[in-house]
Amino acid sequence: MYDYDLLVLGSGPGGQKAAIAASKLGRRVGIIDRRDMIGGVCINTGTVPSKTLREAVLYLTGLSQRDLYGSSYRVKEEITVSDLAARTQHVISRQTDVIRNQLSRNHVAMITGTGRFADAHALWVDGGGGREAKVTADKIIIAAGTRPARPDSVDFDERTIVDSDGVINLQAVPRSMVVVGAGVIGMEYASLFAALGTKVTVVERREKMLDFCDDEIVESLKYHLRDLSVTFRFGEEVAAVEKHQNAALCILKSGKKIVADTVMYSAGRQGQTDDLCLEAAGLTADRRGRIEVDANYRTAVDNIYAVGDVIGFPALASTSMEQGRLAAHHACGEPVREIGHLQPIGIYTIPEISFVGKTEDELTDSSTPFEVGIARYRELARGQIVGDSYGMLKLLVAPDDGTLLGVHVFGTGATEIIHIGQAVMGCGGTVDFLVDAVFNYPTLSEAYKVAALDAANKIRNITRIDG
Ligand SMILES: Cc1cc2nc3c(=O)[nH]c(=O)nc-3n(C[C@H](O)[C@H](O)[C@H](O)COP(=O)(O)OP(=O)(O)OC[C@H]3O[C@@H](n4cnc5c(N)ncnc54)[C@H](O)[C@@H]3O)c2cc1C
Repeated sequence: MYDYDLLVLGSGPGGQKAAIAASKLGRRVGIIDRRDMIGGVCINTGTVPSKTLREAVLYLTGLSQRDLYGSSYRVKEEITVSDLAARTQHVISRQTDVIRNQLSRNHVAMITGTGRFADAHALWVDGGGGREAKVTADKIIIAAGTRPARPDSVDFDERTIVDSDGVINLQAVPRSMVVVGAGVIGMEYASLFAALGTKVTVVERREKMLDFCDDEIVESLKYHLRDLSVTFRFGEEVAAVEKHQNAALCILKSGKKIVADTVMYSAGRQGQTDDLCLEAAGLTADRRGRIEVDANYRTAVDNIYAVGDVIGFPALASTSMEQGRLAAHHACGEPVREIGHLQPIGIYTIPEISFVGKTEDELTDSSTPFEVGIARYRELARGQIVGDSYGMLKLLVAPDDGTLLGVHVFGTGATEIIHIGQAVMGCGGTVDFLVDAVFNYPTLSEAYKVAALDAANKIRNITRIDG
């Protein structure tokens, strides 16, 4: 008899949802995590702190109100790190409480400590101070997440040279910053500091950034960030970073030099599997610490599953939660449904980006015909009211039957209103539903109707000529 039916390693979004789902299915469940990490990277160092900082920055800088009140509008003139930290700490502690409460009222046993495999059905849990206990389970779900990857050649000091964990603990708002890596996390922090008035330079090895997003939207983002004094160095690599008294000198391979108060590395993430003794359970991880799973999130060992960032792309809190739920159902032998192909992507740059479905490039590459319908926020009453003159919503529509193939949004509320498109797509709806539906006025959601009419009119014009 095992101690638990299901044991979950890691209490981030994937682990939490797996544990709660299994408990709802009537299983005896335990979840292991370190004392100060309940809620995982998501709550403590990743999603929640970064999104709270963003909200604090948007509010205190008054940036989103400047279209209405003028470019000098500020809520607070000198924004300090403590202004930002106060809000972040508040949200982290509230969210940690919520998670503890959810786990406890679902009778999930919280096991505090660092876990490592003893064998395929047992983990050693080191609770600190020489306390170590063995816990056993029929099924195990690994949700150990990732940490920022740190190039060996870089001397991180948590002050001048930081990664995305260190950046939330900076002691002062830097006057200048180099962001190395133009991925999602790099660009979110680049725009956040640019909004605070930091002079940001983004250095990216590739020629493009966020190439999985709509091209036009990425162009709009670059335009906006340049307006906030962000400099982009695409096709460039940092060769060395020299630390000086209160600044760093970044030397690029091309010979360019950039001085900055802070250098933030955002060079990918590494699975937290090196200390898990995976081999004791018959498992391995790849070079980046990721564990391979099948379509049901089962690893090479039958009773062990893995979910969340530790299995790689898309490495989002949103998808990790769902993977946790699905893995738990499979591990418990219970049926479950999923809509894997319609996962939205949200990027909290300033302005934000969100999309669901295909991009224009993907459709073109697969020779799938599509029509585009566009709504610009500046033509919506709500857009004017909130002072968003740049936002846009784009629908990609199949001309033959009106099916929605993709929805792309840029600007205020993008990550919220995308779910309307997702729901329509998920329910097999067409552009006709959006043309016929009545939307509250004045709302940003109304963009769907405007874009749908645009697409429907274009399709009608073609049909008129083409037959
Ligand atoms: C800066 C930043 C911003 C982000 N923004 C977003 C966003 O806006 N939206 C979004 O959807 N996603 C975002 N993400 C991604 C999101 O945070 C992750 O996808 C999500 O946290 C992954 O969840 P997870 O279940 O894999 O576990 P994680 O949240 O990674 O947590 C893993 C947990 O496992 C524990 N653990 C690891 N090893 C052991 C061990 N040996 N013993 C005990 N416990 C262990 C850790 O202590 C940790 O608590 C962001 C990430 C970062 C870094």
